[in-house]
Amino acid sequence: MDIHSDEDLKMYFYQNRLKTFEGWPFDEDCACTPENMAMAGFIHTPSENSPDIAMCFFCMKELEGWEPEDDPEKEHKSHSSSCHFISLKKKIEDLTVEEFFKLQKERRKFIITKTGNEAINKFEEASKKRRADIIKTAMGEE
Ligand SMILES: [Zn+2]
Repeated sequence: MDIHSDEDLKMYFYQNRLKTFEGWPFDEDCACTPENMAMAGFIHTPSENSPDIAMCFFCMKELEGWEPEDDPEKEHKSHSSSCHFISLKKKIEDLTVEEFFKLQKERRKFIITKTGNEAINKFEEASKKRRADIIKTAMGEE
């Protein structure tokens, strides 16, 4: 199996994470350089209004509002203490196949939780709007 080319597993590799930090607003003189960000498991996921959003590829935790002196590893640990990647004692390359698959299983849980929550929020938003519409109609405003 060539895991370097597998899209789902790509971000396990530092070099691939580092590549996402093009246009990252912090450089050499900062603690949160692209190198340090990538080392701490982050990938750069900017949006139009927030150029400095970074997300952990593993626990999916998104952090923004970075300051030059922020230490990516410390920030990651303090905002997502349950992330297995940031507390990993070995390099990804040094894991056994079994350890790697165990890790990947934990990652799937984070992904499922995040997509599940997003779906729930979307549903709640939609039902809130629907409820408001029904009340409006019932009150004869339309
Ligand atoms: Zn994480």
